[in-house]
Amino acid sequence: MNKDLIAIAIDGPAGAGKSTVAKEIAKKLNLEYIDTGAMYRAYTLKVLENGLDPKNENEVLRLLDNTEITFLDNHIYLDGVIVDDKIRESIVNQNVSYVSSYPEVRKKMVELQQKMASKNNVIMDGRDIGTVVLPNASHKFYITAKPEERGKRRYKEFVDKGDTEIKLEDIVEEIKKRDEIDSTREESPLRIPDDAIVIDSTNLTVDEVVDLIIELIKGEN
Ligand code: C5P
Repeated sequence: MNKDLIAIAIDGPAGAGKSTVAKEIAKKLNLEYIDTGAMYRAYTLKVLENGLDPKNENEVLRLLDNTEITFLDNHIYLDGVIVDDKIRESIVNQNVSYVSSYPEVRKKMVELQQKMASKNNVIMDGRDIGTVVLPNASHKFYITAKPEERGKRRYKEFVDKGDTEIKLEDIVEEIKKRDEIDSTREESPLRIPDDAIVIDSTNLTVDEVVDLIIELIKGEN
């Protein structure tokens, strides 16, 4: 890691508000926002589109070397095609935690993430940012919230996009399952980095979390 660059790590479980908060902080502090979950989602999409089984490690690894994932102007590209919306679909939510549990997949994504952080001032969100990707990050935060509240937030996102079929209970279940797989996997499980500041956002608005983090960053300098 380049010591002259700013690197802010945000970890936490699904639906805790990490990406909304990180995007806002990126704007306010003029940092590049890197959504690492989107990268695992993009590769999961490719696995599914090619009819491969996300629970079969050998099948999942088959396309890894021939995959290009890039960010440009706030869009995520999978092999040159924008996949911003497709990676948010339920089928990807249901399978991403299997795909992201394989060491080879993680190795490739972590290398890409570290390369991005070596060139720019970044704020990066995910599950292993403070522990593995940017262990020397200048600032580390762990944002969490009660599963029911996280489920409600994800549900609202789907409803706002016009999805009328989705059920709140199903989303809460899916989030709990993803948390369980993400925190119990062998390779880089989700955990609170030793030196992170923990923020429970259950009863906080996005603006309150953003302001709190910015205050903490400024206070630490
Ligand atoms: O953050 P988001 O919910 O989009 O992440 C989707 C999934 O990608 C997570 O549930 C997790 O399985 C995986 N992930 C990961 N490591 C990261 C970011 C995401 O394993 N740094």
